[in-house]
Amino acid sequence: MTQRLIELLLFVGLTSAWGLMHGSAGWAVAGALAGAVLWNMLDGLRARRLLKWLNAADIAQTPKLSGLWAELFDRSRKVIKNLEKKIQSSNARLDNFLAAIQASPNGVILLDAEGRIEWVNLTAAHQLGFDPQKDVGQYIQNLVRSPVFKTYFFGDDFSTEIQIGGIGARPSVPSKISVQIHPYGKKRKLMLTRDVTAVDLADNMRRDFVANVSHEIRTPLTVLSGFVETLQNIPVNETDRNLYLGMMSQQAQRMQMLVSDLLTLSRLEGSPAPGQGDWIETEDLLSPALQETHALSSVLAHPPHEITQVSELPFFVSGNKSELHSAMSNLLSNAVRYTPAGGSIRTGWHLRPDGWAEFFVEDSGPGIAAEHLPRLTERFYRVDRSRSRETGGTGLGLAIVKHVAQRHGGQLEVKSTVGKGSTFSIALPPSRVQQINRQ
Ligand code: ADP
Repeated sequence: MTQRLIELLLFVGLTSAWGLMHGSAGWAVAGALAGAVLWNMLDGLRARRLLKWLNAADIAQTPKLSGLWAELFDRSRKVIKNLEKKIQSSNARLDNFLAAIQASPNGVILLDAEGRIEWVNLTAAHQLGFDPQKDVGQYIQNLVRSPVFKTYFFGDDFSTEIQIGGIGARPSVPSKISVQIHPYGKKRKLMLTRDVTAVDLADNMRRDFVANVSHEIRTPLTVLSGFVETLQNIPVNETDRNLYLGMMSQQAQRMQMLVSDLLTLSRLEGSPAPGQGDWIETEDLLSPALQETHALSSVLAHPPHEITQVSELPFFVSGNKSELHSAMSNLLSNAVRYTPAGGSIRTGWHLRPDGWAEFFVEDSGPGIAAEHLPRLTERFYRVDRSRSRETGGTGLGLAIVKHVAQRHGGQLEVKSTVGKGSTFSIALPPSRVQQINRQ
């Protein structure tokens, strides 16, 4: 302040002295006035420089001044620097926040009061088919054309979510997206999307499964309760009684087999895959399975089937013995059940040239048309429904075989020609095979 006063006095003093030197006291007063005006103009110029610099706000280019103006420049520079730091850190926080929303497996869309997209993350853009850059500013109702969405968007009840078809959804390629809107601020909306295709499929499968199991159990239960009622209410002779009891026992067995197969499946799904530790000789797997097959054939087929074991040098396979036995028995019992009496069945373990081991069952049965092959391992899928039921099939056998093969790192393979027969094989990878060293 003192410096400014000295500066002003200097200007006024010098100009009035100049006036006095060149004339009278009047000139001195005029000179002093001119000095004051000059100083004021100079001060104004400095103020303009400050304003210009503040407008540019370029800290690196601080003008060189002294006195009060230098202090003003310096303080303004500090204020601007602090502001810039704050902006930088809040920008970094915003970037982090947006990166976190980008990484979210759920879609996030911010809509303004008019329903225009303000921001959309990649997940939502991918699920709904938006361009995350170009579609910003577009009205959401023009981009999501589902009528269900429009009714939801223009209604005022956002308490529940809705489901719409995802991009490219077709019956063969299902895609379901769940959408929920959360209003916030001044009529703004936060729209969250979630891909629920897998959940939806699992839900459908669970519903189908429960319906199938109920259906499978209802038939034998109806038969059983019908006979129980008859026996309770109508006097029957010894022969009929024995006949009814025989049929009742058959139905009870059918339910028992169904429950047992369901338990096997759920055990296979719920337990860890068998380790590499247990080595089993193929002969030890084959002989008990063959014994059962002969027994089953002699009960079901008259004359029984011609069952041949294709002999090869035995080797070791690693896995769970009871699972492998159950898978082999399922394939052998299918061959017996679907091949007409007197037909032929060939079976055995053999090593493929590529090192894989294979257990195969080849029959001379009716064969299976190509369109059924991809669906054979679906639970309760049957080609020959009546033959399956007549022979005590549960519709779960091949599902069990496929699970066992996959749990051992292998696969179930089927080759079949209608009218000629079928070959079912369980292939196990070389890591589960060991040759027997016989020196
Ligand atoms: P199921 O208990 O009904 O036999 P599976 O899952 O074992 O159930 O088999 C599914 C269907 O595949 C059977 O219902 C049958 O129609 C068909 N199938 C299985 N094995 C054979 C076979 N060796 N020959 C002909 N059809 C077969």
